[in-house]
Amino acid sequence: MFLEIKGIKKHFGEGDSRIEVLKGIDMEIEKGELCVLLGPSGSGKSTLLNIIGCLDVAESGEYWLKGKKVTGKSQKEMARIRNEIFGYVIQDFALIRDDTVLENIRIPLDYSKKKIDKLRIDQLLKSLGLKKLQKMRVSLLSGGEQQRTAIARALVNDPEILLADEPTGALDSKTGQEVMNILREICNKGKTIVIVTHDEKIARQCDRILCMKDGKI
Ligand code: ADP
Ligand code: MG
Repeated sequence: MFLEIKGIKKHFGEGDSRIEVLKGIDMEIEKGELCVLLGPSGSGKSTLLNIIGCLDVAESGEYWLKGKKVTGKSQKEMARIRNEIFGYVIQDFALIRDDTVLENIRIPLDYSKKKIDKLRIDQLLKSLGLKKLQKMRVSLLSGGEQQRTAIARALVNDPEILLADEPTGALDSKTGQEVMNILREICNKGKTIVIVTHDEKIARQCDRILCMKDGKI
């Protein structure tokens, strides 16, 4: 199995403020699929996505990626997995607003050992319809253009898995649909994608829906 999670648990807080967010999650993701975690706000979707993306760790259970156990790895090894395997897109884009599209897209390259040439960046800009906007400051772009820039930044390192937390959450439905079409295209080109959403219309367009409720799938 490409990605496998077994009995993952996670809580936040202690004593009276303790909340069990993930109460034993089991899930599998196959290579090349567009998979979605669907659930209401507060159901633990982002917490689970952060564990999948090695941004956070579970307190119990096991996480296996490409046949290797991730659980128990050191922080340094987790950082390496994060940089090599994952690209991350979030709802509010998290771009540097005073920098240009191209400057934003190049940021991950400073943290990567992968050799990415100009041609590849050019292809990426073209495929996301950003070629003409590359020298533009991000603060001048529309929401859809900003999210396309964030997707390009997440893809510049050529990650195997793209994680997108509410990628359409800050967009109107037409622009959100355009972003979904782009994610589908990226998946068709061979990337594995995991999306988080509370929107059923978005979820129905994915290959597989994992419904989250009360910390369970
Ligand atoms: P979702 O993405 O489905 O809206 P989250 O995973 O963000 O849900 O959050 C699930 C629950 O965990 C919420 O009740 C949230 O308040 C809580 N939570 C998330 N992150 C933290 C944190 N770092 N510290 C304390 N509580 C948190
Ligand atoms: Mg969330």
